[in-house]
Amino acid sequence: MQGIPANIKLLSFAKKGLIFSQTYTVKDLPRIRDIVSNVDDQVNVKLNFYIENNKIPCIEGSVELEVALDCQRCLKEVKLHLNPVFKLAFIIHENQAEDLDPSFETILNADEEFSAIEFITDEVLISIPMIPMHSHECQSYKDKSPVIEQKRKNPFAVLEQLKNSTKE
Ligand SMILES: [Zn+2]
Repeated sequence: MQGIPANIKLLSFAKKGLIFSQTYTVKDLPRIRDIVSNVDDQVNVKLNFYIENNKIPCIEGSVELEVALDCQRCLKEVKLHLNPVFKLAFIIHENQAEDLDPSFETILNADEEFSAIEFITDEVLISIPMIPMHSHECQSYKDKSPVIEQKRKNPFAVLEQLKNSTKE
């Protein structure tokens, strides 16, 4: 399989039914490299070009990477595994969307030629959660008080009280 060219020539690639695969590093991705701390990690990208309904150029693909971001709850690093997959149809008129399978996401009036790395970056950006957080219950940075281990209350204490009150 061949590597992804710097510039995507949409119609030409789609007509040829080209399939590309390439491994980048996170630092290759503009805008992403500025917000993550794992710039040397790998990014695996697959792009598949084809024509749908005899004339509509399409790109189906996937990106797979890990991003190390600041957890918005504890402000420590959180590593997220991202795997955006996409199935895009590039249409010229909105009514072209009517004949397409609903699984396609339609893009109106795209340029015939565009930067592959910018395109990939866009797909990664929209897959990053707005508020990245650890999946476990981390300690909120807002809670500045030192962590004091609370003595667990005997769960039966309340029940004991109830019993005592009914006796009276
Ligand atoms: Zn956290």
